[in-house]
Amino acid sequence: MTMHSVSTGVEAFRAAAREWLAQNLARRSGHEERSARGLTHRTIEDIATQRALQKRVHEAGFAGITWPVEYGGQGLTAAHEAAFLEEAEPYRLPDMGIAGVVTIKVCAEVILRHASEDFKRRHLPKMLSGEEVWVEFFSDSAAGSDLAGVVTTAVRADGQGGDDWILNGEKVWSSGAYYADFGLCLARTDWDVAKHKGLTWFAVATAQPGVTVEPLREITGDIEFCREIFQNARIPDSERIGEAGSGWEVAQTALRFEREASSGSLTSVAKMPRPGPLAPDLVELAARAGRSDDGHVRQLIAKAHADDFASRALGERLARLMAAGHPAGGALISYVKLARGIVEPNHAKAAIEIGGAAAVSWAKDDRLGATFALDYLNSRVTAIAGGTNEIQRNTLGERVLGLPREPNVERNLTFRESQRRALAEST
Ligand SMILES: Cc1cc2nc3c(=O)[nH]c(=O)nc-3n(C[C@H](O)[C@H](O)[C@H](O)COP(=O)(O)OP(=O)(O)OC[C@H]3O[C@@H](n4cnc5c(N)ncnc54)[C@H](O)[C@@H]3O)c2cc1C
Repeated sequence: MTMHSVSTGVEAFRAAAREWLAQNLARRSGHEERSARGLTHRTIEDIATQRALQKRVHEAGFAGITWPVEYGGQGLTAAHEAAFLEEAEPYRLPDMGIAGVVTIKVCAEVILRHASEDFKRRHLPKMLSGEEVWVEFFSDSAAGSDLAGVVTTAVRADGQGGDDWILNGEKVWSSGAYYADFGLCLARTDWDVAKHKGLTWFAVATAQPGVTVEPLREITGDIEFCREIFQNARIPDSERIGEAGSGWEVAQTALRFEREASSGSLTSVAKMPRPGPLAPDLVELAARAGRSDDGHVRQLIAKAHADDFASRALGERLARLMAAGHPAGGALISYVKLARGIVEPNHAKAAIEIGGAAAVSWAKDDRLGATFALDYLNSRVTAIAGGTNEIQRNTLGERVLGLPREPNVERNLTFRESQRRALAEST
C-alpha cells in the first residue's frame, strides 16, 4: 500500500492525487450529476466491482486520508483530504450505495470512539479497503423513535464455554443489509435496570449461523431495506463495542453521525450562499407540461427556489455557530435535518402539482421523467430516517432551547417493569 508521509505537503499530495485519478478512475457524465434520489437497489455483482475499486483507492493511499495509520489510514490533515476531494470531484469514486456511506460516516466513527483497540485494528482497515461493508441494526419492529425500547436481546452464553453472547430478536429498515458483511447492532443485555442502562452494541456478521437477512420491497418497487431475524446467533465478546450497559452513550455517537451524514456536510463554512439556479428540475418539468407561463406554477417554482436558498443559508449559519463553539454543539444539526425534512416533501409535492400527468408518466428511457414520481414516493425519507421531524423538534426543544423535557412515565422503573406496565395498559 502506498503511504503518503505526514511531511507530504498538501500541494504535492494534490498533484499525486490528480495523476492517480486521471489514470485510474472514469470521469462522471453530466447526466449523473442530477440530484434525484431514484432507485437505490444494487446488485451483488455491482457491489463486488465497487469493492475492488475501493481496494485500489485504498492501496494508492487515498482512503482514510485523515484516519490514524494503525487503522489503515494515512494520518494526514483535513486539508489533504479536502485537496483530494476537490481533485476527485469530476471522477466516479467507488460507490457502495447507502451502506457504503453508513460504513464510513457512521459505523467507523462509532468504532473509532468506542471499540477496543483490538476491535479497531481488526475491522477498520477492512472497512477502508472495501472488504467489510457495514450497516446499522438500530430499529426493532416496535422500537424506532423510542430507540431505548429495543427488545432484541443478547445474554451471556454462561455454562456453554467462552464468554460469548447469544442474540435473539428482530431488526428492520436496515438499509443495504442484503449486501453488507456486518451490522452494528443495538441489543438489550439487561432487563432489570432502567431502560437506557441495559443496552449494549455488538458487531453481528450477516453470514453467520442464526442470522437471516430478508430484503423488503418498497412502494417504489425498489429493494433497499431489510429485516433481520436473530435466532440464537452466537456473538463473541470480542465483537462487543463499548462496555456492556453503555449502549445508550454509544447510540448518541451513532445518532450524531447519522444526522450529519443525512444533512450533508456542514463543515465547509464560507461566504453567504448565493441564490443558485432557479429550481432547475421544476423549471424543466413546467416546460415539459407546457405550463411555464402559468402564474400558479411560477409561484410554486419561486417558493421552491426560496426554500432551497433558505435551507442553504441555514446550513451555513449553523456551521458557523458550531465552528464558533456554540454550547448546543452537534445538536444544532437537527435544525438542518428538520428543514430538509420539511422542504423535500414540499418540493416533491410541487412537482406533482406542476407536472400533473407529465410528472407521473414517462418513456422507458427517460431518466429525468422517472425522477419526479420517484422523488415524490421517496420524499419522506429525510423526514423519517435517522429520527423523524417530530424527534428533531424534541431534540431542539430540549437540547438547544432548554425547554422542559417530555414527561417520562417510565422513571424509576426497570425495563421489565415498564414493559409489563405497557402490556397491562394495552389490554
Ligand atoms: C430511508 C430510511 C432508512 C433507514 N435506515 C435504517 C437503518 O439503516 N437501520 C435502522 O436500524 N433503521 C433505519 N431506518 C428506520 C428509522 O430509523 C425509523 O423509521 C425511525 O427512527 C422512525 O421509527 P419508526 O419507523 O418505528 O416510527 P415510530 O417511532 O413508530 O413513529 C411513528 C410516528 O410517531 C411519531 N413519534 C414517535 N415518538 C414520538 C415522540 N416522542 N414525540 C413526538 N412524536 C413521536 C413519529 O415522529 C412518527 O411520526 C430507516 C428509515 C428510513 C425511512
